[in-house]
Amino acid sequence: MKTFIPSKFIVERDPARCIQCQVCVNQCSFAVNSYDAADNEVMADENNCVGCHRCVVFCPTNALNIRKNTLDYRENYNWRPEAIEDILKQAETGGMLLTGMGNDKGYKVYWDHILLNASQVTNPSIDPLREPMELVTYLGRKPDRVEIDPVTHTLKNAMPPQVKLNVPVMFSAMSYGAVSLNVQHSLARAATEAGTFWNTGEGGLHASLYPYGDHTIVQVASGRFGVHSKYLNAGQVVEIKIGQGAKPGIGGHLPGEKVTAEVSRTRMIPIGSDALSPAPQHDIYSIEDLAQLVYALKEATGYRKLISVKIAAVHNVAAIASGMVRAGADIIAIDGLRGSTGAAPKVIRDNVGIPIEMALAAVDARLRQENIRNQASLVIAGGIRNSGDIAKAIALGADAVYIGTAALIALGCTACQQCHTGKCAWGICTSDLALTKRINPEIGSRRLVNLLRGWAIELKDILGGMGINALESLRGNRLHLRGIGLSDNELKILGIRPVGD
Ligand code: SF4
Ligand code: SF4
Repeated sequence: MKTFIPSKFIVERDPARCIQCQVCVNQCSFAVNSYDAADNEVMADENNCVGCHRCVVFCPTNALNIRKNTLDYRENYNWRPEAIEDILKQAETGGMLLTGMGNDKGYKVYWDHILLNASQVTNPSIDPLREPMELVTYLGRKPDRVEIDPVTHTLKNAMPPQVKLNVPVMFSAMSYGAVSLNVQHSLARAATEAGTFWNTGEGGLHASLYPYGDHTIVQVASGRFGVHSKYLNAGQVVEIKIGQGAKPGIGGHLPGEKVTAEVSRTRMIPIGSDALSPAPQHDIYSIEDLAQLVYALKEATGYRKLISVKIAAVHNVAAIASGMVRAGADIIAIDGLRGSTGAAPKVIRDNVGIPIEMALAAVDARLRQENIRNQASLVIAGGIRNSGDIAKAIALGADAVYIGTAALIALGCTACQQCHTGKCAWGICTSDLALTKRINPEIGSRRLVNLLRGWAIELKDILGGMGINALESLRGNRLHLRGIGLSDNELKILGIRPVGD
């Protein structure tokens, strides 16, 4: 059927620079570029261009530019181009609109309306180049009270299991099949080198990744793909996935084309079969049921591993988190409105959930009010972009953050939102064997370690500027935050004062 949807991008090729090398033809996995041997000319079918920039980056003569197609519709505040084009797509396909990555709507990004404090005159700032600064974070249940032996000066309490992070940043769940094995290798190596954790997602753990177990979080989702006793004991944390920010209340779907022989072995499902994770965990219909699964997993792992429970940030998130702590979770992971995914129904991604900043503030406040904040660590996710966001998250009450999209961007992703197509030109969200080779785990892990290193240096600078020498002193310390351009109600939910106050 002829599409009525205009191309989103214009591929500009400078004929004076193009040497017809066909690099762009080979690099574009969306079949935009083609070579006409008769005319010795490279051409573009712009309808397929997704603006991923792969061809631009690899063109040896800088002959290419991709720019937005600015074809205008008549101005209409209600019928904006996206609304019109979504209807056209559904009129052509008769199906649900699928998309990748996270919510791209103009909902307020609260991080950009929160400002950090700095010391001046009194409580002087600390120079992180000359003074030791501590970013180490321990995740896990903490005892209600700490007893120190007066003679040996050691801790008398028996501590529940803890995991140590050198930086308060972990790589969030991205399953094998949704991302390529080389991406998982990059994440696992980087987590090991940087002293943090990566997360298997719901797709099981490939045999080649078991050596990274000391820095691995293994996930148990509703589909139970690849879950067995060896898997549960392979990592340091077992994460029960109830929901994710990009699609709260929705299950997962890995199309059969992505279930290759290796994916099928790891997930323990037939080659080529669709991997459908049901929307609910069918054994969890109450907090008591969740407690049973938490303790079943603790039992299965000899009470040596932490149990994390991950939910999407939704309207009554604080009450849900309180129940999760009471169910025995050691880590509460909350994924906000802007959390990403390999594939989600667009209508869910764009309209369901709440921003992580609000969810975090509400959950931390509720757990403190109920005097159970020490019983679980709080890890948040969903659109963390830089060290400034991390510092604000810590001051709002998070123990650590998960990053997904930011990690993929470090590997080359341009957030083109085509992850669900399986054609990712950067070799990230694909099972295509030729494309997956585009990620070299050695280079990928180096880029990820560099990113975490850069953020760690910046976090130390931020802390030093506040006159603080340990991240622990910033945690939940909302006095270091001020809101700008926020209503009284927003300030109240965030628990922060306005600028100038
Ligand atoms: S590689 Fe990406 S940006 Fe270049 S033509 Fe193909 S889809 Fe467009
Ligand atoms: S992972 Fe690949 S397909 Fe997905 S948004 Fe990034 S570049 Fe695009």
